[in-house]
Amino acid sequence: MEDLTDEFKYMATSLFIAFKALLMNETPVACILVNKSTGKIISIGYNYTNASLNGTKHAEFIAVKRLMENDHQINFQDIIMYVTVEPCIMCASFLRQLGINQVIYGCSNDRFGGNGTVLSIHNDKKLIGNTYKSIGGIMRTEAIQLLRNFYIQENESAPVPKVKKNKDIENKLYPPNIFNVNELEFTDYYGLIRKEEIYNQSDKEITPIIGHGYKVSNLVNLQYLKDIPYLEQDMGVVDDEQVNEFFDLFYDIDDNGQVQFSSKIRTYNSKKRHLNDDE
Ligand SMILES: [Zn+2]
Repeated sequence: MEDLTDEFKYMATSLFIAFKALLMNETPVACILVNKSTGKIISIGYNYTNASLNGTKHAEFIAVKRLMENDHQINFQDIIMYVTVEPCIMCASFLRQLGINQVIYGCSNDRFGGNGTVLSIHNDKKLIGNTYKSIGGIMRTEAIQLLRNFYIQENESAPVPKVKKNKDIENKLYPPNIFNVNELEFTDYYGLIRKEEIYNQSDKEITPIIGHGYKVSNLVNLQYLKDIPYLEQDMGVVDDEQVNEFFDLFYDIDDNGQVQFSSKIRTYNSKKRHLNDDE
């Protein structure tokens, strides 16, 4: 695909849901399920392990469970998942058993990734059942940035606040891009031009349009986010202030696919329940 604008809109949607989870003191990981033929968002899920005290309540499980409760005749071959972080081994196995069509994820999951980083549950031929396609890289820096905001919170609730360290977390470069696919699979999804420009060059980010940068506020707006099914009923009202706070958390990406670390961002402070200006 040359123009990935729709893919980015879907991922920005998942990122906003993850931001809402962050506001609820959950690890900011979220996903949406999209019907492949209609393009409609049919379910959402977010990490819900803290409030539920249940370590298996991952975003993927919640989104699928919701869908199954509402519809008993689901063909998972019609469904694509957009999830901010690579599914863990448990979720990757679950999605494979369901027969999901495809998973698009933001950043890789270095410790538990089941779609290529630690294990390749999605396409391991030795396992029974259908394989599924999976690829990473869409808005992966934003996915990492949300997680970093969560870890800043963790540090703040520690007995000895590591203020200096927080600064490091904010300004730290992102790890190299990992797509967890071969050249052919990369080209199939991202197109030949990106294959030549990005596949072997890990410091360059994917952008919606080749040769053009983006900012998250280009992708979604208040009305679009208010219309996400189940979001407001599950996670509370979405308002202008909150949406702007969300936009302020991320660096812009320039026309060369470089993260603009010089652009001003803010960080989320759980204790004070507001955003801090980046100093
Ligand atoms: Zn999981």
